[in-house]
Amino acid sequence: MENLYSTIDVLASANTDDVDVMQEALTAIRNHLGMEVAYISEFVEGRAHFRRVDAPGLEHLIKVGDSQSLDDVYCNHILAGRLPQLIPDTSKEPLAESLPITRAVPIGSHVSIPIHLANGAPYGMFCCLSPRAIPTLNERDLETMRVFGGIAAKQVNKEIEELRATRSSRAGTESVLLEKDYQVVFQPIVNLLTMEMSAVEALTRFGPQPYRSPDKWFQDAFDSGLGIELELAVIRSAVEAFSLLPNDVDMSVNASPQTIVSGRLAEVLDGKQLHRTILELTEHAHVADYALLHSALAPLRKAGVKIAIDDAGAGYSGLQHIVQIAPDIIKLDMSLIRSIDAHQARRALTTAMIYFARETGASVVAEGIETSAELKVLQTLGVNKGQGYLLGKPGPLPAYVSPVEFADELMSA
Ligand code: C2E
Ligand code: MG
Ligand code: MG
Repeated sequence: MENLYSTIDVLASANTDDVDVMQEALTAIRNHLGMEVAYISEFVEGRAHFRRVDAPGLEHLIKVGDSQSLDDVYCNHILAGRLPQLIPDTSKEPLAESLPITRAVPIGSHVSIPIHLANGAPYGMFCCLSPRAIPTLNERDLETMRVFGGIAAKQVNKEIEELRATRSSRAGTESVLLEKDYQVVFQPIVNLLTMEMSAVEALTRFGPQPYRSPDKWFQDAFDSGLGIELELAVIRSAVEAFSLLPNDVDMSVNASPQTIVSGRLAEVLDGKQLHRTILELTEHAHVADYALLHSALAPLRKAGVKIAIDDAGAGYSGLQHIVQIAPDIIKLDMSLIRSIDAHQARRALTTAMIYFARETGASVVAEGIETSAELKVLQTLGVNKGQGYLLGKPGPLPAYVSPVEFADELMSA
């Protein structure tokens, strides 16, 4: 059988925030039974591999990564019914007594529950053992062991399912990258005073059906380790389109902190119009280390790249993130803009953001403007720039090379 678990362990160690349910179950049952060793094993090619171990002080005997031939251990005998799941005293079980491992470890008592995969195939064992015989171990202990074994089995199956999903999502991203099965579209960003287009935002559309939103594609790509590759690939395509834009129109591209910190943006931006490039960093992207981010941004900023905070006010990491980044542009999330004409609190927050931006030398872009009533309020409040379906939907260039249609109409709206 394929060795799924070693990959799962890699994933688990990458996500250190997750509580390891199986490790906790092992510790709990081992303490409950008063035994010295608890482990979960996986059967791979005739060997029992120890995937989780709880054996404080006995690491020289058993540790994660060790394996034993299935011919030498109890597992096959238990699965075949030749040994019971509950053995309070191995000296009273002739077959156990006859196995060299009983004396070598030694094993005085042994309780184990087989773990099965969702399709019924044996996966491995959930097991506790002690060098001592423990004659008080009884059917109720075995029942408790079954409950914990059941939890472990559920967790194993869940992680295998997640691993399959990650693998298939990685394959999907790989094929999109290989076949360049995406298109970059551009949405105008308009100066709300003059109603002229000042920039475009590059947004990606992915080819595979059924349609999935770009944020989902990028999230999956990051989950399967290809996020930076995908972001770099679409930015490379986006900046190719500078030649289709008038010289006074900038281009905004979306980038995650990971891509910025990777230092690889220079590869795709090199030789392009850096003084016309805006990097949009989403407000909810987790920044692990601001010092690292700043040092990666410094050469780009020096070369003229402007930094925008995307989705500001959407309620993620908040003002602290904005203060840390000190952006040139703050893009107000569309949840703040939606029906702003009818919501006093949204107006108040927008006013506060405009004040903050002015004080820190940043400009403000309102995202997701859909109605002329929203536009009017934003103009009255003094928001510098706007983006939204009312002003232009994302589309291929060169649809927007001329100033925004209906500008006069909107000015008088
Ligand atoms: P975002 O960067 O905040 O982009 C704005 C989103 O709002 C876009 O959705 C845009 O199509 C949509 N939008 C613009 N005006 C309106 C409006 O008036 N009403 C409504 N309801 N929506 C409007 P889209 O293109 O589906 O992208 C969603 C998110 O996916 C983006 O949010 C961004 O976080 C991510 N994304 C899209 N393209 C890229 C890309 O090339 N690279 C990266 N890293 N992320 C991208
Ligand atoms: Mg954006
Ligand atoms: Mg946004």
